[in-house]
Amino acid sequence: MPKKNKAGKDLKTLEEHVIAKAKDDADHNVDAATPVLNGMACPTCSEELQDDGKLLVLMTVPPQRPVTCPACKWKGLRRA
Ligand SMILES: [Zn+2]
Repeated sequence: MPKKNKAGKDLKTLEEHVIAKAKDDADHNVDAATPVLNGMACPTCSEELQDDGKLLVLMTVPPQRPVTCPACKWKGLRRA
C-alpha cells in the first residue's frame, strides 16, 4: 500500500517499486529482442531499416543503436 508523507503525498514503498520494475522488465523482455522497423532508409538498397532490439543501446557518445537491413542484410549504427 502507498504511504503518505507529512505533506500528504502518496509514496510507494521500496517493495512496490521492485515489483513494478520487475513487471516493466518482464513486459520489455517480451519484445526486447523483436526487430522493429524504424522508418530509416538503408544506405545501400533504400529499403526500410530495422532496430535490432528495442532495449539495445550502445553506451557510446552519443548513444547508438545497431540497425540491420532486412532486405540486403546491411548492418550499421544509428543515433539512439
Ligand atoms: Zn538494404
